[in-house]
Amino acid sequence: MTRSITILGATGSIGASTLDLIRQNREAWDVKALTANCSAKELAALAIEFGAEMAVVGDAACLADLREALSGTSISAEGGAQALCEAASLGADMTVAAIVGCAGLAPVMAAVEQGKCIALANKEALVSAGDILMDAVARHGATLLPTDSEHNAIFQCLDGGELADIRWITLTASGGPFREWSHEQLASAKREQALKHPNWDMGAKITIDSATMMNKGLEFIEAWHLFPVGLDRLRIVVHPQSVIHSMVEYRDGSTLAQLGPSDMRVPIASCLAWPGRMDTSCKALDLPTIGQLTFFEPDEDRFPATKLAREAAHAGGAAPAVLNAANEVAVAAFLDGQITFTQISSLVARTLETRLPPAPTSLAEVLAVDAEARKLAEELREHA
Ligand code: NDP
Repeated sequence: MTRSITILGATGSIGASTLDLIRQNREAWDVKALTANCSAKELAALAIEFGAEMAVVGDAACLADLREALSGTSISAEGGAQALCEAASLGADMTVAAIVGCAGLAPVMAAVEQGKCIALANKEALVSAGDILMDAVARHGATLLPTDSEHNAIFQCLDGGELADIRWITLTASGGPFREWSHEQLASAKREQALKHPNWDMGAKITIDSATMMNKGLEFIEAWHLFPVGLDRLRIVVHPQSVIHSMVEYRDGSTLAQLGPSDMRVPIASCLAWPGRMDTSCKALDLPTIGQLTFFEPDEDRFPATKLAREAAHAGGAAPAVLNAANEVAVAAFLDGQITFTQISSLVARTLETRLPPAPTSLAEVLAVDAEARKLAEELREHA
């Protein structure tokens, strides 16, 4: 049976992994819409290859390039933030949400309102608007499939089980490229070093988030919304081999873990085929070659981001959206050479300390909190 699919963020790392799986199962999927921000030529090539109905660039200034690259085809080309939401509203059976950052929030909400299946990689959307998004999922009868490898692992370990039976949910963290670095080394960590993740090949923003451990902080908040067992039952363990993608411990003492290669095609395939399974060409786990699996407590002294995220979750209200917005500003500033590696977490901390707006109660209010927090973080960066 053919199912229709829309991929938001088709030109990114998750987008490429998803399209690779579709390429191997071409007859199973009818591609409705593909989106990017400004990679117009790449997007056009993908839209032509997969016979998409619609291609959208989020940055309207890139629409002319997209139109030119699609001229002579029947694929409709659109641009701008509203067009991203229109692509997400086409009612595809499955929408893969793989835009990076809070920019993906409104399109995710548009997809949720269709009441179909959403494979959610865009963790920032859930961090910024967790309650509002989860309410909308329930109200519209949508199915949210966690695509982040840790949350997909937890989802698989839960397998329909009762949340009340859970003692602990343990998110595993690789620890990133700087796991063993001292304070002094971290202070002078370079962009190129931070962009070299030991296990995963990902987009730039999440790779920096992994190096600061903010990625695990964002995932902590993401897990809190997806699996509402309470903040005191969520914990983080550093597991440098990234073989166990997360674990669920039940009240009888059983711990279920999901293992797999460090290849996002595995959790994406689990979402695409859900509730069944599909073949992939992913390399099998070779445990004898891996040899040892090790585990450590996170060091929040050297990597304060997980603490900031946990405190933001406990504070609730606007705090997670402010944390996320400040982090997006800080990561972009680090990638631009404007701040040092350790200033990423301190800029997030200072933004959270300065002023917290009232708790947002709608999508529009979350977007306003996000915009205000970005402005504040930029000001704090400029006057540092
Ligand atoms: P990439 O940077 O590789 O790709 C991001 C995608 O989003 C691109 O298609 C990009 O388009 C598009 N995009 C960027 N900014 C905007 C914008 N303002 N408006 C519309 N589209 C935009 O990111 P990843 O694929 O690595 O990550 C995507 C999401 O998935 C993130 O939330 C990340 O945290 C999450 N995730 C990623 C994992 C991974 O392995 N990569 C693992 C788990 C979660 P363009 O090419 O034009 O810039």
